[in-house]
Amino acid sequence: MLLQMNGNKEFDVPSLTLKESSGLELTHDDFHDLLDEALYESDDFRMYGYKVTRCPRRYRHNWMSCPFMHFGEKARRRDPRLYNYVGILCPDHKDGMCLRGDSCVFAHGAFEHWLHPDKYRTRMCNARAFCSRRVCFFAHSVQELRQETCYPWY
Ligand SMILES: [Zn+2]
Ligand SMILES: [Zn+2]
Ligand SMILES: [Zn+2]
Repeated sequence: MLLQMNGNKEFDVPSLTLKESSGLELTHDDFHDLLDEALYESDDFRMYGYKVTRCPRRYRHNWMSCPFMHFGEKARRRDPRLYNYVGILCPDHKDGMCLRGDSCVFAHGAFEHWLHPDKYRTRMCNARAFCSRRVCFFAHSVQELRQETCYPWY
C-alpha cells in the first residue's frame, strides 16, 4: 500500500493484515489506528513525514497522537530535506522563542532534534525490546542502529 506524501515521495506502508485473522469488523477509527501503526513503523516516514506532512484528515480526531502535522502544534517539524538545519538542539529555542524562526540552522524542540536523520536511532533505547513508546527516537537492536552524523565545528 502506498501513501503519497507532499507529492514528492511515496512511503511504503506494510499491508494491514490483522482484520482477516480476527474476523471482526473494523470501524473507521480502528482502521485509522492501524494505518497509524503501519506508518509509525517506517523509518523514512518518521524522519521525513512525521509531524512534517500536513494532516490530510477532514474529520475530528486526536491530533496529538496523529502522525501528521497540524497548524499551531508544538510538535510540528520542518522537513529536513527542504530546510537546512542540523540535528543539534537550538540554544535559543529552549528559553522561549528563537528569532531565526524557520530559517534557524538548529533543531527546534525534541521532535526536530531526535527525528532528524542526523540523530534518529543513533542511540540504544534503555527499554530495548520492552519499549512501549509509539514513536521511539532510539534503536532497539543493533540492526536498527543508525550512524550518527557529527559536526567537527560543534
Ligand atoms: Zn491529524
Ligand atoms: Zn533556533
Ligand atoms: Zn524505545
